Amino acid sequence: MSPPVPLSAARREPAAAPAPSPAGDAETGMTVEEQELGLISAQGLYQMRCECGRSWFELSLPNLAKCPACNKVGVVRLLGS
Ligand SMILES: [Zn+2]
Repeated sequence: MSPPVPLSAARREPAAAPAPSPAGDAETGMTVEEQELGLISAQGLYQMRCECGRSWFELSLPNLAKCPACNKVGVVRLLGS
């Protein structure tokens, strides 16, 4: 177990010194513009991997899966559990 790293110390940002910009240059500096938000779709995928080395993806986690390469039906075991 490693000691927890405090995020506040790790994400220390340098002090932002206001850079002297020449007069008339309005493009520099931080400007936060309001943007219309889009919609991003997310989907979980399970990566299946057969003993033969073939891997493919399934949208849901089946109990049994058939390898598209060697046609062998195998019991799906979720890694990390
Ligand atoms: Zn296979």
